[in-house]
Amino acid sequence: MRQVIQIDQTVLKQVLDEARERIKATEQWGWGNALEKAAEELRDEPAVEVEVEEEPEQALALIYPPHERVGVTYRCTAATCQCEAHADRKPCRHRAKVRLVSLCRDRVEREVPAAPTEEPS
Ligand SMILES: [Zn+2]
Repeated sequence: MRQVIQIDQTVLKQVLDEARERIKATEQWGWGNALEKAAEELRDEPAVEVEVEEEPEQALALIYPPHERVGVTYRCTAATCQCEAHADRKPCRHRAKVRLVSLCRDRVEREVPAAPTEEPS
């Protein structure tokens, strides 16, 4: 299912701060750059089109259209990506971005628990 997720900049900032802390705590420095690049993209383009998978647990996938790299479409989830960096077992901004988008989504859902906005009254 395709869905557009709007990233709230305040939520993004919180999620980003926590992610930076986690990188520091776990010394996964390789993720630092990927994270910052992903965050920059989300600041520039806060509307992200994703695929939501039914299983497991509504995992998100980002689809990168071919224009980013001629002729190649990436499908990227938090666990795997089709880009060259990932093939080299390196951190990539695609996976960092999926992760950030997921965290932002989860946080928003937690803070606004099932508001029945779409129910007819
Ligand atoms: Zn990638």
